[in-house]
Amino acid sequence: MSNNERTEKSKTSHKIEGLAYEPLGMPTERVIRLNARYGKNDPEHSRRQEIIRHLITPAELMHRTQNRSPFANNSSCTNPAKQNEQADIYAYSRRRMVNEQLIARGINDENVLRAMACVPRHLFVNEALYPTAYEDRPLPIACGQTISQPYTVALMCQMLMAEKGMKVLEIGTGSGYQAAILREMGLKVFSVERIKELYTNTKSLLTAKFGYYDMQLFLSDGTLGLDLFAPYDRIIVAAGGPDIPEALKAQLADNGIMLIPVGKEKMTQNLIRVFKMGNSYREENLGTTTFVDLIGKQGW
Ligand code: SAH
Repeated sequence: MSNNERTEKSKTSHKIEGLAYEPLGMPTERVIRLNARYGKNDPEHSRRQEIIRHLITPAELMHRTQNRSPFANNSSCTNPAKQNEQADIYAYSRRRMVNEQLIARGINDENVLRAMACVPRHLFVNEALYPTAYEDRPLPIACGQTISQPYTVALMCQMLMAEKGMKVLEIGTGSGYQAAILREMGLKVFSVERIKELYTNTKSLLTAKFGYYDMQLFLSDGTLGLDLFAPYDRIIVAAGGPDIPEALKAQLADNGIMLIPVGKEKMTQNLIRVFKMGNSYREENLGTTTFVDLIGKQGW
């Protein structure tokens, strides 16, 4: 068999065996081979099993996305990238991001994965950065701010333990990417931004371009929360301050959960998850992290 024939044959068998996810970089066959070779005594065994358990083929992912996304019905779709999937040249990179950066690292909340697979991250950054939009890193947005790396966005969404229909308050709208993910998770989103330029541009992106007219966006100091619509089932803060603002604790609903980076020094924080039960609060430290400054009356 010539090399050409062999390549052709392997392409066909790929399709027949349904191994469409192999080219996405998930080394499925290798994982299975390693398991066979090293067995369960290998410390990496359980991790590999986990990868296998959560593997989603692009076809399946697309199926899930199309079936459950509000964009599923193209007549209500205002997002040009989703109106015509063929035209979204980043769809492949996005699925690859979900498989390699999220599923492989243990993100397993299907609602989060579906949202991350659906929202076109590139449309939230400057056009010059489109080709890097699905890489494993934070990206700069206007006014010296940043969008967190995809894994951090997904992890925070998963840690929120939110259920569809819940009211969520986001502090730090920024580019609107995380807000769009929360919206695609089926949450009622209230988001506050303190920088006018970001607020104005993001509002027009999220409404005119994405059709998220049900999102509530505000220009104000988010360290004071948003008393008008309180209480919130969930609060997520996308910037780090020296303490947890009292206003935010007060606006959390009973049995509510808040995620907030807190650090006495700028640029390094601990990601804190606050559980509210009645009038008492329990705090859980989820580890160190780096966010931009939370600037305001109850921030820096
Ligand atoms: N969630 C955003 C992250 C943007 S970076 C995204 O996905 O793009 C954090 C944002 O928090 C910045 O836009 C910054 O201006 C904003 N921010 C900082 N302090 C704030 C405050 N007190 N109130 C509202 N927004 C604040």
